[in-house]
Amino acid sequence: MLLRHTPKEISERSALMINPAKTCQPIGAMYAALGIHGCLPHSHGSQGCCAYHRSTLTRHYKEPISAATSSFTEGASVFGGQANMLQAIDNIFSVYEPDIIAVHTTCLSETIGDDLKQIRKKALTEGKIPKGKYMISASTPSYVGSHVTGFSTMVKSMTGLAESTGKKNGKVNIIPGWVEPCDMEEIKRITKMLGVSTILFPDTSGVLNGPLSGEYKMFPDGGTTIDELKASGDAIGTLALGEWCSADAARALDTQNKVPCKVLDMPFGLKATDRFIDALRIVGGVTVADELSLERGQLVDMISDMHQYLYHKKVALVGDPDQVISMTEFLVTLDMWPTHIVTGTPGKAFEKRIREITKDLPYEVNVKAAGDMFLLHQWIKNDPVDLIIGNTYCKYIARDEDIPFVRWGFPILDRQGHQYFPTVAYKGALRLLEKILGVLLDRRDRDDSEQQFELVM
Ligand code: SF4
Repeated sequence: MLLRHTPKEISERSALMINPAKTCQPIGAMYAALGIHGCLPHSHGSQGCCAYHRSTLTRHYKEPISAATSSFTEGASVFGGQANMLQAIDNIFSVYEPDIIAVHTTCLSETIGDDLKQIRKKALTEGKIPKGKYMISASTPSYVGSHVTGFSTMVKSMTGLAESTGKKNGKVNIIPGWVEPCDMEEIKRITKMLGVSTILFPDTSGVLNGPLSGEYKMFPDGGTTIDELKASGDAIGTLALGEWCSADAARALDTQNKVPCKVLDMPFGLKATDRFIDALRIVGGVTVADELSLERGQLVDMISDMHQYLYHKKVALVGDPDQVISMTEFLVTLDMWPTHIVTGTPGKAFEKRIREITKDLPYEVNVKAAGDMFLLHQWIKNDPVDLIIGNTYCKYIARDEDIPFVRWGFPILDRQGHQYFPTVAYKGALRLLEKILGVLLDRRDRDDSEQQFELVM
């Protein structure tokens, strides 16, 4: 197999990354932009970058991704891409008629030093942005950060549309972070159940998990509307789910529009969901619905019923910081042993959080931010685990080491369902638990002797 030459011996690497656990910033910016209704993402760089970003999202979401590009050639690469961008704005509004263009930069345009804010001003002065239409921009050089950084920067740029009228509208902003479209749907189901009126942004539900209707729509029905983004400035509060994905936007709204914010972990697993529901209850001034308490009880019931299959099972985990932090806490709640943990996104705070969550375990976890899957594989070789949780790229390690594997995170290129079956909140945690138990019990069915082979588990 491809990774059979990964050596067990770990040597210090300072400049070389092998099998990265991240992808490039504009992919995150593009995903966030697709969560605005009537938005055409625009990649300010070469066609190749844009094609890569679109295809990565298409492979994960199994949906066509529309995006425009400044189509840099040699001239723009040397002298800057302002002319291309201005021409693109003209073309996009006249041909595709979006409500808004969300532009992100690429390595190339950042290296040249194109200033999108200045280009936008020039476009406004020259009347290239029609009345009632908008352009936002995010600086997303991919030689720093990751797709998570790009996502966060684009979400923050959305707050530039927020308006303060001086009169609160009673709504609660929820910034869900990079979760699946179905997760956003699930968050909306819960807020509706609790009777909290919310503005969720970005919102890719109905955009990247839509039906095949036989009718082509350039801009699908879903997404946060421009009016909602404007109204976010009059909200009574903001709940930002995830320090890495959502906190910057929430803090910007707090500073610019005086909308108080609370930054929470993403609601994966029992405890993080409890904290989210509690925060929602407080900010919305509501009580928790019995229906939701029932869902929580079902999750606790399954945890206690199946505890013997989870107890002290060692897990290797890779993914984006906000997801991995909550998943680590969930694994600890299940009495499992998260053992090796990697995220590709930089940030020492990640390692600190993981150490806090795992401080009561009888061993020290291996954890690395800005790490890669090569290191994860080496850790596994030195200290084998019972389960791997991560994106599709983990399948090479899982196959080489013959370890059960749960696909979770981004990207998932070789399975279906992640767009449709949420893993947030209590029902989502039930699904995560079912997936974990499924692969662990399948392994027992495969490996148990005939005397131990059980019908009822
Ligand atoms: S050049 Fe930069 S922005 Fe373009 S695909 Fe490569 S890493 Fe991403």
